[in-house]
This record gives sequence, structure tokens and C-alpha cells, in this order.
Amino acid sequence: MFGSALCWIRRDLRLVDHRALAEATQAAERVAVVFVFDKVILDALQDRDDRRISFLFDSLSELDAELRRLGSALIVQHGDPVEEILRLAEELKVEAVFWNADAEPYALKRDAEVHRRLVQAGVAAKHYKDHVIFTAREVRNQSGGPFRVFTPYSKAWRARLTEPDVQDFSPNPERFWRDLPVTVQMPTLNDLGFERSDPWLEPGPRAAQERLNRFQDHIDGYGQNRDRVDLGRTSGLSVHLRHGTISIRACVRAAQAHATTGAEKWLSELIWRDFYHMILEEFPQVVERPFRSEYQQLKWPGKPAHFEAWCIGQTGYPIVDAGMRCLRATGWMHNRLRMITAMFLTKDLLIDYRLGEAHFARWLLDFDLASNNGGWQWSSSMGADAQPYFRIFNPVLQSAKTDPDGEFIRQWCPELAGFAGDQIHWPHGASLMEQQIAGCVLGADYPHPIVDHAVQRQLALALLERTDRNG
Ligand SMILES: Cc1cc2nc3c(=O)[nH]c(=O)nc-3n(C[C@H](O)[C@H](O)[C@H](O)COP(=O)(O)OP(=O)(O)OC[C@H]3O[C@@H](n4cnc5c(N)ncnc54)[C@H](O)[C@@H]3O)c2cc1C
Repeated sequence: MFGSALCWIRRDLRLVDHRALAEATQAAERVAVVFVFDKVILDALQDRDDRRISFLFDSLSELDAELRRLGSALIVQHGDPVEEILRLAEELKVEAVFWNADAEPYALKRDAEVHRRLVQAGVAAKHYKDHVIFTAREVRNQSGGPFRVFTPYSKAWRARLTEPDVQDFSPNPERFWRDLPVTVQMPTLNDLGFERSDPWLEPGPRAAQERLNRFQDHIDGYGQNRDRVDLGRTSGLSVHLRHGTISIRACVRAAQAHATTGAEKWLSELIWRDFYHMILEEFPQVVERPFRSEYQQLKWPGKPAHFEAWCIGQTGYPIVDAGMRCLRATGWMHNRLRMITAMFLTKDLLIDYRLGEAHFARWLLDFDLASNNGGWQWSSSMGADAQPYFRIFNPVLQSAKTDPDGEFIRQWCPELAGFAGDQIHWPHGASLMEQQIAGCVLGADYPHPIVDHAVQRQLALALLERTDRNG
């Protein structure tokens, strides 16, 4: 038994169902909880009103309030996490530091350094799996190697799942360190160099649990409604899963509690998340390069002006523009729209997927290296996918399927709101009189399409086929 310990939280911002905290409060008499705002990460952010920082800050404030109610407090530092954790361990004279593992390349390096220095200082370093159900090494193909496509991975994942994999790790609140021997004061957003910018969803573990509870009222219909951008029937939990304000195990338990096809489908999406984390862990080169080696030399011929038009939602393709404007305004985009806009950038505009990936990384509230990279590689046919390069969405047909009445388009492209029926999906077929009646003259109030989908589709097929063949 340790006398005192630290639990270092990072992307696991909750005090319930928390593996490291449960282990720490079992192994030590007093446990202090610490979070470090990493200067390297914060300084690299482009926007001083980044909504993710407000989300983080508010989630941490909730944890601090809860810990204070229990007689303790959250220790929040701002600096280099390696130095801060080492300094705090020394100052508090703890015998062990606990944390949940993070398999992103930057985190692996940072954690290895903390581990090394703690051990050197005579402090135990304990880390656990918490962020995924299975790590890369736990789900292997028959020859013991990693899977490269989703369906067999998903089958193996399901076959391996047993009750302990989704157990609820409850920390012992009696063991939270009361009367901490250090002054504990949350820095303000200003101290961190940021301004408040409220995200569209409520932060913190309480709101995450409420969201999961509400989602369960319509989880059974998830299979039918998940691709409709106008209905908002997905869980909206990705931001919480990203920051760990809810545990992945709680989500899987919720899916298991409903033995319906909708819940099964939702479980599949949670497995996609593990799948992409596995890909990142096994093939860390995907951060820089296509997963499919035959595309590593591919030169994308797209134009910078087209990239600009895509970023600001001025391509002349309403569903693409609506999605891109929604992303910038809210930090959110529905999964179907992520696929449509990503495929449009790569297969219609022939622009390098890495530019789109970086744009999403800047704006998405749920930005997660593994899932974002996986989604971009999949959409551009560079990734771990059973289907080869000829999967190309027609953005107009997709628009009619995913937003049948055009409500989502009307919300984000109000200049098109006057177009009736199917014209909302493709206003470019409207006569000048119809445009005038709709109150939107094309070329003046809304751009002409910057490319012709039918032409670009052929160019994309030729480009990807050639590269595929030549490797
Ligand atoms: C180009 C592109 C980029 C993406 N970038 C990200 C990202 O940065 N962060 C992120 O969390 N997801 C990303 N996704 C996956 C997916 O779009 C979001 O997870 C989903 O839209 C979140 O909405 P939700 O929580 O309502 O999902 P639900 O439909 O309710 O699904 C439940 C959970 O399953 C996981 N999930 C669902 N779909 C996927 C998927 N395709 N891949 C991995 N996990 C999935 C998410 O954690 C999600 O919260 C990306 C997809 C694409 C095509």
C-alpha cells in the first residue's frame, strides 16, 4: 500500500468509471488528482478563442467542484507536463503516479519520459488501458498480426469481448486527498492565453452521462436514422469520448443493454473507434503518409483556390458548402457530411487529403488524431479499407439522401432557402426566372459549381488507378 499518490488525468476527465483513479484509490491512502495544460499543445493552437479549450476548462471546473465537495481539489498546472508532474511528485512526496495510457505518438514519447524520470526518482509509475476497449495487441488476426480491414477486425473484437472488458471501475472517494498540502487554484482562461468561446454542447461528465441517457431513448432507431443530417439522431458523444468525460466502457454497456439492431449498429461505430486507434498504434506512419503504400508517391493536382473555396463553403455544391460552414461555425459535422466533404475535396477537387485532415483538426471539437486520420484516409481511398479507389460519392445524390427536404442546407446556406423541391440540392438547373423567384441569382448570390462532378470523377479514377497500378 502506498501512503500517497498522484493520479494524472489527460483525456479521461471524469471521476467515475476511471481505471487509473480506481487503481490509485485502491493502492494508496491519499490520492491527489492533477491535470496539466500542456504549453506545447496550447501554443500550437491557431485560434485564441478555440472552443476546445473552453470545453476542457469547464469540464475541469466541474471536476474541481466535485473534488472540493469531497474535501479535496483538482490540481491544475500549466507548463511542460514532464517537468510539472516530476515537480509535483517531489513536492507532495508521493510514492506513485497513476495514469491512463494514451497511444498517440506525442503522448507515448511524453509518457515514456515521465515514466523514466519517476522511476529514476524512486517513484512508481503505473499506467492502464482506459481509452479503448482493446489495445492493438489484444485483437490480432490468425497469424498474430494486426488486421488491415474493419469487418474481420470487428468480428474478432466482438468474439473477444467479455464482461470484465466493460467493467465499471469505481474509484473510492474516501481516498481523495483531503487538505492538500499545496495551494490549489485553477488558472483562468486568460491566464492560459485564451478567450471564452462556448461550444455547442454542454461540457463535463454530468452532461455526457445525460446525453448518453437521452440517446438511449432512440438508440433502437439508430440504424435507420444515423445517416440523416437533418434529424440529429446520432449520440453526439464523440466530443465527450475524445476528452474522456464519459468512458468508452459506459457506452459499450449502454449498447449491450439494448439488444436491437440499432444498438448493434451503434456498437459497430464504437468498434470503428477502437479500429482506428489500433491502426494508429500499429502503423504510426499513417500520421505522415497514406496507409496504402502504393499511394505514397501520389501527386495531387488540385488547385489552391479550390481548397480555399472548400474551406469557406463556396464550392457551388450546396451539401458540401452547408457542411463546411457548419464545421466552422460550430466545431461539429455529422459523420455523413464528413465523408461527403472529404470525398469531394479528394475525388472532385483532387486535393491532398492531408490538407483536409489538417483543416478538420483545426476546427473539430471532437478532433482525435486516430479517428480523423482514419476517416480521411478511408474517404480518399488511401486507408485501411476493403474497397479500392473507385468508391466516389455523387454529392448531389448524397444530398438528397441525407437531407431529403433540404432543411440542413437551408440552415447553413440561407441564400438558397428560396429554392423548392429537389432544386435545393442542385440549384444550377434552375432558369434565371426560377432563380429570381427563389431570390438567389447564381454566380452573384451563390457560386457556380467550381468543378463538374462527372468530369472530375473520371479524372480521379484515372489518377488513382494509374498510381494504384504503378505503385
Ligand atoms: C473525414 C472524417 C474525419 C473524422 N474525424 C473524427 C475525429 O476527429 N474525431 C472523432 O471522434 N471522429 C471522427 N470521425 C468519425 C465520425 O464522423 C464521428 O465520430 C461522428 O460523426 C461523431 O458523431 P456522434 O458522436 O454523434 O457519433 P455516433 O454515430 O453516435 O457514434 C458513436 C461514437 O462512435 C465513434 N465513431 C462513430 N463513427 C466513427 C468512425 N467512422 N470512426 C471512428 N469512430 C467513430 C465516435 O466516438 C462516436 O462518438 C471522422 C470521420 C470522417 C469521415
